[in-house]
Amino acid sequence: MKLMVKILSLLLFILIFSSSFPLTSYSAEKISLYLDGRYVGKIDLFSSPDGKFLFPVRDLFRLLGGSVGWIGSTKETYLQLAGKKVVLKIGSKEYKVDGEIGTIDTPLTVIDNKLVVPCEILERVWGYTCSLDIGKKRLDIETTLPVLENFYYRKAQNKIDFIFKFSKLPTFKIGTLSSPPRIFIDLYNTLSRISLGEIPINSSIVKKIRSGRFTSSTLRIVFDLMGKSSYTYQKDKNTLIISVFSPEKVEVISTPIPENNNVVSTPSVKWTPPQTHKKKIIILDPGHGGKDPGAIGRYGTREKDLVLSIGLRLKTLLEQNGFKVYITRSGDKFIPLQERPRFANRKNGDLFISLHINSAPFNTKASGIETFYLSSRYSDPDAKKVAKRENTSSFTGKPLTEEELIKLILSDLLLSVNIEDSSKFAGLVEKQLTRYVKLPVRGVKTAPFIVLKGLKMPAVLVELGFISNPKEEKLLKTRDFQLKLAKGITSAVKLFFRSY
Ligand SMILES: [Zn+2]
Repeated sequence: MKLMVKILSLLLFILIFSSSFPLTSYSAEKISLYLDGRYVGKIDLFSSPDGKFLFPVRDLFRLLGGSVGWIGSTKETYLQLAGKKVVLKIGSKEYKVDGEIGTIDTPLTVIDNKLVVPCEILERVWGYTCSLDIGKKRLDIETTLPVLENFYYRKAQNKIDFIFKFSKLPTFKIGTLSSPPRIFIDLYNTLSRISLGEIPINSSIVKKIRSGRFTSSTLRIVFDLMGKSSYTYQKDKNTLIISVFSPEKVEVISTPIPENNNVVSTPSVKWTPPQTHKKKIIILDPGHGGKDPGAIGRYGTREKDLVLSIGLRLKTLLEQNGFKVYITRSGDKFIPLQERPRFANRKNGDLFISLHINSAPFNTKASGIETFYLSSRYSDPDAKKVAKRENTSSFTGKPLTEEELIKLILSDLLLSVNIEDSSKFAGLVEKQLTRYVKLPVRGVKTAPFIVLKGLKMPAVLVELGFISNPKEEKLLKTRDFQLKLAKGITSAVKLFFRSY
C-alpha cells in the first residue's frame, strides 16, 4: 500500500513537471475568422498565459478550404491547402514541405482533445499573413503574397546598402557561403515585380548580385563578394536593408578596444566624399527657357523667367555658403530635358536641384510647394499632372508613351544609388522652405521625371508655388519672396551635407 502511494506520487510528479505536460493552461474563446477581409466563420482561439495563440487545425484548414489528414504509418499529421502539403508531428517544431524541413516556434499540440497549431504555419509555408485582434475577437488571414517591388543600392565609404522594397515584408533567411565568398538571402513565398537577373556592382566590396528561384517558392538573391565581408540588416513593414561592409572592417575591430562594447561594433569611420573635390558641387537647373516658356500666369508671368531669377539668386547664396555651383542655364536659353542630367554628371555634381513653378489653370486657388524625387510611380493623381507637364514641355524627340516612360525610369532606378538620399533631401527642402515662406506645403511626392533620369547624384525637382494662382504669381515676382525661397533651399542644402 505504501509502495502504491509512492508510485502514485511519482507519477503525479512526472505528470506535473515533465515538459510534455506543460503547466500553462490555455483558455479558449470563439473568435471570427476573416479571409482576405471576408468573414468565413467562427473558430476557437486558445491562448496561454505566456502569450501563445493556437487554433484547432481542423477548423482552421476547413474554413480556409484545405484539409487535414493522418498518416498512420508514421503517426504524422498532414495539412493540405492551395496545392501544398505539409507534414507535422505532434510535439515537434519541425515540419516538412516539398522534401524541405522548416521550423515553427510552437509545435503542433493537443489541447482539449483538439489538435492545435499557431497561425505561424500559414505564414511560413504559404506566405500568408495572420493578424489577431484580441479586442475585436478577430483573426485576419491575408493570402496575398509579398511582392518585391523595387531594389536599389547606395555606396558609402566602407559599406554598401542594398535596399529591397516589398508590398509587405516576406519571411526571409540571410546567411553566408564560402569559396568563393557570398552572402545570400532567401525570400520565402515571394513574387517579384522586377527582374533582378545579374547586376554588376563593381565595388571594392561586392562584385555583382544575381538572383533566381532556389526552390519553387523561394527567391534567392546572392551577393558575390570581393573578399570575406560582414553584413548587418534592418527591416520594417516593407523594407529590408542589407549593409555589406568592406573586408577591412575586421581590422578596425582589432584596434584597442574601448570599454564600451557598442563603440566597437560600429567603428567610427568618418564619412569622406567618394570624389576628390572638397567643395560640394550643387547643380541648379532652372526649368524651361528659350522657346519653352513653361507655365504662364494670368498677368503674363512666365515660369522660365521666374525660375531663372530664383536660380541665379540661389546660386549666389550657395556660393556664399561655400558650395561650388553649376547652373544648367544662366540666360533665356532652350535646353532639352535630356541634356540637363548629362550636364550634371559631367560636372560631377553632389546634388541636383531642378527649379519649377506649378500651374493648375482650372483651379486658381491651388497653392503651395511640392518637392519631387524620382520614382517609376506617381505618388498621387496631382503628381501625374505635374510630371506630364514637365516631361513634355522641353523634351526633344518623339514624345514617350506612358509605358516607355516608366520603362525608361525603371531601368534607371534599378541601378540608382540615390533614392534614399533624394527623398531625405526632398523632406529637408519642404521643411526649410516653410521656415522662410508662408506657403502651404503639399508634401514630398514621387513621379517619373525625365529631367531626373540618369543622374549620378541625389536629385529633386521642386515646384515653388503656383503661377496659376494670381496671388502667388504676384508674390513670385518680388525680389523679397525669391530671396526667401533661395534661403530656404540653401538651408536645406547645408543641413543635407551636414547630416551626411
Ligand atoms: Zn516647369
